[in-house]
Amino acid sequence: MHVIEAIKNSKELFISLEITPPNKGQSIEELFSVIDPLSKYHPAFISVTYHQPQVVYEEKNGVIYRVPKRKKPGTVGICAALTNRYKIDTVPHFILGGFSKYETEDALIDLHFLGIENIFAVRGDPPPGEKTFIPEKDGHRYASELVHQIAKMNKGIYLENLESAKPTNFCIGVAGYPEKHYEAPNYEKDLFYLKHKVEQGAHYIITQMFFDFKVYKNFVEHAREIGITVPILPGIKPITNLRHLSGLPRDFHISIPSELVDEMEACKTPAEIRKTGIKYSLDLCQKLIDFGVPGIHIYTMGKGTAAQDLLSSLFK
Ligand SMILES: Cc1cc2nc3c(=O)[nH]c(=O)nc-3n(C[C@H](O)[C@H](O)[C@H](O)COP(=O)(O)OP(=O)(O)OC[C@H]3O[C@@H](n4cnc5c(N)ncnc54)[C@H](O)[C@@H]3O)c2cc1C
Repeated sequence: MHVIEAIKNSKELFISLEITPPNKGQSIEELFSVIDPLSKYHPAFISVTYHQPQVVYEEKNGVIYRVPKRKKPGTVGICAALTNRYKIDTVPHFILGGFSKYETEDALIDLHFLGIENIFAVRGDPPPGEKTFIPEKDGHRYASELVHQIAKMNKGIYLENLESAKPTNFCIGVAGYPEKHYEAPNYEKDLFYLKHKVEQGAHYIITQMFFDFKVYKNFVEHAREIGITVPILPGIKPITNLRHLSGLPRDFHISIPSELVDEMEACKTPAEIRKTGIKYSLDLCQKLIDFGVPGIHIYTMGKGTAAQDLLSSLFK
């Protein structure tokens, strides 16, 4: 089922999950052990992130070779495996970095043939160790261009002129930033470009993680004011340790309210810290539910135990 249909048809609150592929060389069983205990909450869909390779240069017999090392391959395979095991809709993330638009088209055809009809279209972070995103030769610079390409394929328009080409049928999600994307000159401009992604054919938005309900509420209200009408699913990351307090703002360019920081720093034990973080996420979810969100998208990251703690309290 298309994610947009799941959102529109849902009669009660649903949850969805974001997972990250295991490191290269690890078994998929690792992922199953994350999802097995969460599957009882019947996630409406599971999205699977995609990561650029880190390019390193290795010397062999005096010759320097360029070696792309992708730490977390397997996004599409994982989607197929999860759909097979859990009979659930999966959403591969598609990134721009490292792909020409021709390679993207081929990968989209693979998905289409596999029966995967949902895609999350993001530009992607710069490769590990790099600060700037550099588009591939013949690739896209902005996520809106990928959305445009997919939307055209949905009309049977491929990169080359094909007679009576069959249309694909992808539902497209894109990322939104309640605290603004870190590269955008300002919040208004970032919202303007978000609207452009929707105009190019995105069906729904999932937000970057946030920790203050008012931040999400303002974002949704501002988006509606400028004419963004598609659903905006809140992305929630349960916070469970003191490392998160500096690591999440550094890695995701978000802020954590003083109230939560103070509460966590005042805790005496790791167990108390965890309990405080989960309780905070639970309160945040309750405010979102009262606000009328159709669903909550949970960033599982790692072993998924924080998501389990949150969900067991949410659906008590
Ligand atoms: C829910 C979610 C899932 C994610 N999944 C992944 C993942 O799987 N893999 C991964 O590597 N990263 C992922 N990311 C991170 C994301 O790739 C980064 O935040 C990236 O820096 C921006 O991606 P984007 O799709 O929002 O980019 P864009 O929408 O292309 O925006 C990037 C920047 O360009 C600006 N911009 C957009 N259009 C224009 C234009 N026409 N002219 C000038 N400026 C413009 C925007 O304001 C923004 O500052 C995810 C983020 C979220 C919120």
